Amino acid sequence: MTDCDVVILGAGINGAGLFRDLCEQGLRCLIVDKADFGSGTSAAPSRLIHGGLKYLETGEFDLVAQSTLERNLLLRNAPHCVTPLPTVIPIFSWSRGIGAALRTLLGAKSAPRSRGAVLVKIGLALYDAYGARARVMPRHRLVGRRAALADMPPLTPAIVAVGTYFDAKVARPERLVLELVQDGLAASPGSTALSYATLTSVADGTLAFATADGGGVTARPKIVVNAAGPWIDAVNAALGAPSRMIGGTKGSHVLLDHPGLIRTLAGRMIYFEADDGRICLVYDYLGRALVGSTDIPADDPDTVRCEDDEIDYFLASLRGLLPGLAFDRSQIVYAYSGIRPLPASDASTPGLISRDHSAPVAEPSPDRPFTIVSLVGGKWTTFRGFAEEVADTLLARLGESRRRSTRDLPIGGGRDFPADRGKWLADAARATGLPEARLDTLLARYGTTARAVARHEAGAEPGGLPDATDYSRAEIDWIVRNERVVHLADIVMRRTTLAITGALTVRDLAAIAGIAAAALGWTDARTTAEIAIATAEFAERNRLVLDPAFAAPAPGARLRTISEPAREDTA
Ligand SMILES: Cc1cc2nc3c(=O)[nH]c(=O)nc-3n(C[C@H](O)[C@H](O)[C@H](O)COP(=O)(O)OP(=O)(O)OC[C@H]3O[C@@H](n4cnc5c(N)ncnc54)[C@H](O)[C@@H]3O)c2cc1C
Repeated sequence: MTDCDVVILGAGINGAGLFRDLCEQGLRCLIVDKADFGSGTSAAPSRLIHGGLKYLETGEFDLVAQSTLERNLLLRNAPHCVTPLPTVIPIFSWSRGIGAALRTLLGAKSAPRSRGAVLVKIGLALYDAYGARARVMPRHRLVGRRAALADMPPLTPAIVAVGTYFDAKVARPERLVLELVQDGLAASPGSTALSYATLTSVADGTLAFATADGGGVTARPKIVVNAAGPWIDAVNAALGAPSRMIGGTKGSHVLLDHPGLIRTLAGRMIYFEADDGRICLVYDYLGRALVGSTDIPADDPDTVRCEDDEIDYFLASLRGLLPGLAFDRSQIVYAYSGIRPLPASDASTPGLISRDHSAPVAEPSPDRPFTIVSLVGGKWTTFRGFAEEVADTLLARLGESRRRSTRDLPIGGGRDFPADRGKWLADAARATGLPEARLDTLLARYGTTARAVARHEAGAEPGGLPDATDYSRAEIDWIVRNERVVHLADIVMRRTTLAITGALTVRDLAAIAGIAAAALGWTDARTTAEIAIATAEFAERNRLVLDPAFAAPAPGARLRTISEPAREDTA
């Protein structure tokens, strides 16, 4: 029996954020995910750490104030993962949208179809004002048509101006979730984290889980937190407290291998209105153009994937925005989808906290001696604030008090992040004997945890993966041994960015499987099964199919995107 105060079901950003906070307060917690850490919706966002510019239109000023603050804090606390993102808004008129914006502010249900320069100027000025707390980035600017087109020649000439402002992006959200879990475990040695563990029974206040190693764990908590995102209602049903809290929508993204677009973007995001008035975005994500997102009612997070009509929508939107560039399906190297765990529209459960997120409570019942708190809604960006609010409530219920604020607490490899990168690299090169250029790559991937990776690499046989040679075999071995890897897909989809950037090749997948097999003691049969499971997941969820030459792979043979349907797609 695991002795713990709180069990958290679901290790997405909300569960992991709360786990870290509670562990920092000295509580013993058990966090359990049915899959890998951070593999649900938290792996499917637009990867923006943003203040929510569009929430100004709906008058959600508190949400903007909180989001801009959390954005600024993440830029400081996770500088290895979260970095500024200069953003460009194309503007198509001077005065359009003002009346509609006023109507929306007064409670109308629709946002303006088109936002003119005056409206954008007011919005960006307000956004700057809300983002003043803990500010780290410059203020907005408005740039005229001629200068904008000189700067971005492929942009549609229909613009009258562009607005530019700063938000932020998170390069490796999946890793940040894992780092929060690891930080929690370090702060509270009595706490436990389990991935790929299944809730098998709930009886007399005891929760039983089947674990990935074939064993089992039981716990008898005072409080259960349901942090299962779009699976919240399914988990509440399993806990014997049926609910209808979530009414999700599906959102998809694609990544394009498009050097011309990457050159045009020059590190910036374009945040633009598609023809149907929806806001879309495109930016340089680790050398690929990340394009998103759609917003379609859907409720099965286990089967969600980016469909053909969504791809058509993205390509048509890009063609309208950037007529000077050509777009077609062959440029797509990866696709992903997730369900936004939005509150069900008729949800009336009283909440402990009511903002954009809420934490409704199911009090204990005669046959269920523990309280259930569900974490409903919330953005990736605001996880820390959400965790703080819920942790304070749980601490009060447990008769404990807060020992430590997470406001200025660095996360994972963000700890002791160097202001002077050159000095850090020189010191690390002296300590490990690795070249500074290599250490720079590791620092970008792992933050200051790079030192541990570098030490491991320095003491190992040299050599990289067959194709992605900037990943060393020792680096993959370090990940497998230190980052709670259970399956091959964990490494290629979440501990590294090999899959999402389209860099993964058939030979590298086999090489990584071999390294994992040696470190984790997989049999040949298990290794083969891991490759099969990972490739099936790519095909089903990410529009990647395995090259048929897998058995005898040609050097560099890539996993590639599913070929396009029989229809003309080129611009
Ligand atoms: C298309 C899209 C774009 C977005 N873009 C952004 C953005 O740019 N910026 C931003 O701030 N926010 C963004 N969001 C919102 C943000 O991603 C989510 O609000 C956030 O990730 C939700 O996290 P979560 O921890 O609540 O849920 P999840 O990440 O889904 O975590 C829930 C976890 O519960 C686990 N689970 C399920 N059932 C069980 C069970 N029975 N037992 C144990 N575990 C279980 C799952 O495996 C999963 O890991 C976006 C969302 C979407 C869908």
